[in-house]
Amino acid sequence: MDNNIPKHSWWHQREELEAFARTFDETARLRVKKSVLWSATRAIKTFATTIGRVIYIPVDWSASSVRSVIPHEVAGHIRQFRWAGFGIHPNLGIFPGMFLVYVWGTLLPVFLAWGRYRCELHADAQSWKYHLERGLWDSTDVRRRAERFADVVSGFAYIWAWPKAWCLAGFKKRAEQVIQEHSSGNG
Ligand SMILES: [Zn+2]
Repeated sequence: MDNNIPKHSWWHQREELEAFARTFDETARLRVKKSVLWSATRAIKTFATTIGRVIYIPVDWSASSVRSVIPHEVAGHIRQFRWAGFGIHPNLGIFPGMFLVYVWGTLLPVFLAWGRYRCELHADAQSWKYHLERGLWDSTDVRRRAERFADVVSGFAYIWAWPKAWCLAGFKKRAEQVIQEHSSGNG
């Protein structure tokens, strides 16, 4: 596999990135998302995907891109898998807990995958908090990210998980709450 790893790939800094991921959950692991395994759609190859304790990441991502999604994937999704696994281990949450939310809940009720929408909203809010707390983002960045990601979750990549207007309204509301909590915490 090493022959196929591009020079700019995050893979060369995987140990450092994995150490960062473990600051959110000690079980977290990073793996390359190989095209064979993820060839179902093109869109899937352009996203990081978390299953249990493992985050699968496209090989051509840079280290900084990986670093920026780790709070969403670990503080969000790995923690969700852990909850679904009764708090014992994220891998215990894969089946049936998160399977129902991610696969059943995403494929069957197109436009009404409420569980998927809630998982993404929760995961992204963890990322907003992380970036606000460290001064990496300001409130404008959070609002911009919330609107952009609501567009993704209600679009093709997430199989239209939730109606666009509801999704946008939900993300905007949560963004304002997170910004409010952050500014009162610092005030
Ligand atoms: Zn996500």
